[in-house]
Amino acid sequence: MPKNYLSFKGKVAIVTGGTRGIGKAIADQLSQLDCHVIYTGTKPQRFSSKARQEYWSLDLSDDQSTDVFCRKLHQLPGVDILVNNAGINIIEPVDEISVDHWDKIIKINLTAPMRLMKEAAKIMKRDRKGGRILNISSIFGLVSKEKRCAYSASKAGLIGLTRAAALDLAANNILVNALCPGFILTDLTKGILTQKEIKQLSKEIPLGRLAQATEVSQAAIFLCSELNTYITGQAVVVDGGATIR
Ligand code: NAP
Repeated sequence: MPKNYLSFKGKVAIVTGGTRGIGKAIADQLSQLDCHVIYTGTKPQRFSSKARQEYWSLDLSDDQSTDVFCRKLHQLPGVDILVNNAGINIIEPVDEISVDHWDKIIKINLTAPMRLMKEAAKIMKRDRKGGRILNISSIFGLVSKEKRCAYSASKAGLIGLTRAAALDLAANNILVNALCPGFILTDLTKGILTQKEIKQLSKEIPLGRLAQATEVSQAAIFLCSELNTYITGQAVVVDGGATIR
């Protein structure tokens, strides 16, 4: 085992949606492990008090904002890690789904990760140092639940995108994976589930509880580290056993 396998010293990581929840946990852990982290949020500016963290504004629902962000990536000395984490969910049954909501979810959860992967892959190929790309999908990309049409479609699409990109980039030692969290206690979950539903859900999850964001970020860190040398094109599930029943 390499001695400093969990040191990210000298590496640059991009983490979208790094202001809260899972993305924040990933950004914080990476910077604690000496990675220089560029994390994004939708607000124009944000003060970063943490060492090795830099905030860039990015609204993935806005093509112009994504264009500017993609151009800025090419001004960096390099990109070693891309974590496509930012995502949204809107709950609607198939017979009531709004096409505007569908378009927004697909744009933020699927099209934007593809656009960022494209630019990061160009930079990684140019620098010939390999790389790691991690797409935060969901168990709802593998299974589903009522009122999750657009969300499930976007997250299943992200898994397909991950597999295809892993094949395209394997020869360059760029490892591309998807991570599929189950039920994680973040703002996104709290905005969708009631306390009663969270309690009921806990009973149905084999490990008996929802997860903290850090329990997902630990798996993300491993997949983005040099300890991961042979996992690519996979959808790694972190769900306390929720999908095994
Ligand atoms: P969260 O707490 O709601 O945080 C979402 C992050 O995405 C924030 O940093 C937010 O930035 C950013 N964001 C929102 N809209 C954006 C946009 N239009 N453009 C760019 N960034 C945007 O989310 P989370 O629960 O940590 O989820 C993170 C990822 O994990 C998502 O892809 C989600 O689908 C996936 N996931 C979550 C769960 C779960 O149980 N929570 C389960 C499975 C998968 P601002 O702070 O500026 O709003």
